Amino acid sequence: MNRKPFVAGNWKMNKTAAEAAAFVREIIPAIATIRGVEQVLCPPATAFAAVAPLLAGSGIGLGAQNMHWEEKGAFTGELAPSMVKEWVGYVILGHSERRALFGETDDGVRRKVQAALAHGLIPIACVGETLAENEAGQTQSVVSRQLRGGLSGLTAEQASVVVIAYEPVWAIGTGRAATAEGANKVVAAAIRPVLRELFGAAVAEGARLLYGGSVTGSNAAEFFSQPDIDGALVGGASLKPEFVEIVRAAQSRAG
Ligand code: PEP
Repeated sequence: MNRKPFVAGNWKMNKTAAEAAAFVREIIPAIATIRGVEQVLCPPATAFAAVAPLLAGSGIGLGAQNMHWEEKGAFTGELAPSMVKEWVGYVILGHSERRALFGETDDGVRRKVQAALAHGLIPIACVGETLAENEAGQTQSVVSRQLRGGLSGLTAEQASVVVIAYEPVWAIGTGRAATAEGANKVVAAAIRPVLRELFGAAVAEGARLLYGGSVTGSNAAEFFSQPDIDGALVGGASLKPEFVEIVRAAQSRAG
């Protein structure tokens, strides 16, 4: 199965609109020439208007870091799917920071995934275990539960659109990445088989499965050399020109 490599940068709550535009201007000459890799930048929503015109025609996608599932209403501070859809084609959902700091649940992720798909957005759905869960040997059961919860109710056709990021919480922003073999093992044992069970072999084989957690320009190639890791969701390193090296490393997987 020839899966197109996928690299997304999650800028989290970093960069003003002016800083975002300056950074995109800096890296775009390099990343726009890298072919065969689906690339997505996910700045804060306040920078969408500044970044979107800079990406136009480059083939590089723009993504949101979150959204609400409801279409409108009394949800102070939230953005509706149609609002993010005015700017972006992708949306990160169920990031562990949203789960840990903002009380997001598997069922909330499910509602968001469904809303994203209904609006033609490509969800980048995140799953991953905490350090305690990892140490208790619960990694596969946690990842499987999050995946089943987040994707429940989808048709195979809908599920085939979803990109899934395996992000062990203990590896995010810590500089302590999982080993490439360890990450591949989780993806191969707890994500692809669950997709196969829920949606069939074609969806499981075609799904882009990413690793996220302290990916850098130096370790990216190791992850991308694994058979079941099709790309990366990158936090800290996506704020720096180092992101270009990560995208370049993903090119090695391009068919
Ligand atoms: C993330 O926030 O999705 C992430 C993977 O962060 P970092 O690369 O900084 O660990």
